[in-house]
Amino acid sequence: MGTDTAHADLLRGLNKPVCAYVYDTGALRDRVAEVRAALPSRATLLYAVKANGHPEVVRTMAAACDGLEVASGGELDLARAAGARRIVFGGPGKTDAELAAAIESGALINAESEHELRRIAALGDEPTVCLRVNRAHGGLRGSHAMTGTPTPFGIDETQLKKIPGVRVIGFHLHAVSNNMDGDAHAAFVTDALTWSADTARALGIDLQVVNVGGGFGVDYLSAARMDLTALHTVDVPDGIDLIFEPGRYLAADAGWYATEVLDLKTTHGRTFAVLRGGTHHFRLPAAWGYSHPFTVVPVDEWPHPYPRPEVRDTEVDAVGELCTPRDVLARARHVERLRAGDILVFARTGAYGWDISHHEFLRHDPPEFVLTRPGSQPIGGVAPPIHRSR
Ligand SMILES: *Cc1c(COP(=O)(O)O)cnc(C)c1O
Repeated sequence: MGTDTAHADLLRGLNKPVCAYVYDTGALRDRVAEVRAALPSRATLLYAVKANGHPEVVRTMAAACDGLEVASGGELDLARAAGARRIVFGGPGKTDAELAAAIESGALINAESEHELRRIAALGDEPTVCLRVNRAHGGLRGSHAMTGTPTPFGIDETQLKKIPGVRVIGFHLHAVSNNMDGDAHAAFVTDALTWSADTARALGIDLQVVNVGGGFGVDYLSAARMDLTALHTVDVPDGIDLIFEPGRYLAADAGWYATEVLDLKTTHGRTFAVLRGGTHHFRLPAAWGYSHPFTVVPVDEWPHPYPRPEVRDTEVDAVGELCTPRDVLARARHVERLRAGDILVFARTGAYGWDISHHEFLRHDPPEFVLTRPGSQPIGGVAPPIHRSR
């Protein structure tokens, strides 16, 4: 139980039928502090905005981290509005307008191709860039490998060369999503530092920045946490700004998706809990093909004259309100008791939840967004909402 049900009273108090994302900005700050303590002491910690671009989350992270990593003009605008002290701008398909805005705002651009470097050179007076490189080796295991394999990201290591009109100060080597192995991650970072020094020397680059990206993992199916402590032992050479830019690991545990059970039915021997919500709000389980764990928040009031659908000691599929059989958040999860009107809470939905979902499909109302007070302690109490926005 614990954190999952800590917001129970808050959830029962929301508009009916309940459908909400709760983001706890105190939990975001706590996680940032924990990650900072694990990283090498001189490392720079940025937050990757694409994990959760809610303006309140972005504002919290702009203040708690050293800056933000953005991957579009929209995210760049968010980061500037949030007062980010540093901005790093990446992404494989940047428009001239986005590149110009990045240069104008003083963001450090990660250039992803030779053609892009020439376009950047044409836009400013020797703009400062890092080269995103798809290395031959030096990858990591995780959900999406992005280096050492054909991808649209970065410049093939064998094609690196000097391009006139830009000032290259380092490399960007984001390699993976959702790696769970802290020792392997530390080895990857150490290798990235060595490779960067060697490659900079060979290309005549004055190396100042080594950006090792994000990719710290979250295990959605267990309470296991990735252990980052091995990263603390990474030796950062003098004069090198070692940048980490995680998204998932910083934001996942600060978000909860809560939806009310609208209907309960059994067809052909299988029980379905139909929710006021679904994959159009929280697509990750459908995208990755797993069942996201949930807890039940019981709601005792039943103001209706007709009987209340209820199941006991059985397995249910938690499905959404969309007219497609793919709208499934969890399959075959055991419940002691579940009734129409109860609320299912999906924890660890603060990253790649709302932000990666297809909101307009079927045109249902969006969830409520509830932000809990910075520094509030969600465990064992109810954190009051300070801000709701549609
Ligand atoms: C997505 C992304 C990140 C964040 O990745 P996480 O897996 O959320 O840590 C960081 N840097 C770049 C370049 C990215 O594309």
